[in-house]
Amino acid sequence: MENSPKTLEELFAAADKVGKKRYHRLTQQDFTDYLKFNHWRYVNGDIECGTTQKSKQWARENSERSCPICGRWFADCGGRTIDHKLPRAQYPWLSLDFRNLWVICRDCNQEKGERHWYEYEHYMLINYPDRYRDVAFARPRQLLKTL
Ligand SMILES: [Zn+2]
Repeated sequence: MENSPKTLEELFAAADKVGKKRYHRLTQQDFTDYLKFNHWRYVNGDIECGTTQKSKQWARENSERSCPICGRWFADCGGRTIDHKLPRAQYPWLSLDFRNLWVICRDCNQEKGERHWYEYEHYMLINYPDRYRDVAFARPRQLLKTL
């Protein structure tokens, strides 16, 4: 695409621009721009942790060798996936906000599903109290304040 960002830095800048607007205020042009970054949508839940070299690299650079939730090595639990802390379905304007992304394993990603962050924290507290601290630590505090 002609005006697609060429670098990850450009993608970040464009995502910030779109992300600052609220969903209901987005214009047709915003959606057109948004579609240019559509490949990021497919990063989430992909077994290969991304469909592009750039997103795979981002996932590697933004993770350790083990999943921050279950603590298992990524190689043993389905590999790295990029998850939206606040789900895309409820907060589409945050789908490209990199503060909303973190790298977790495929198993944990599937279990988290489309829960809102606070629902997810509650779910973890009830079902996996030993993992709750790490999840609470990852809470997207800044983003939650903007809702
Ligand atoms: Zn995990």
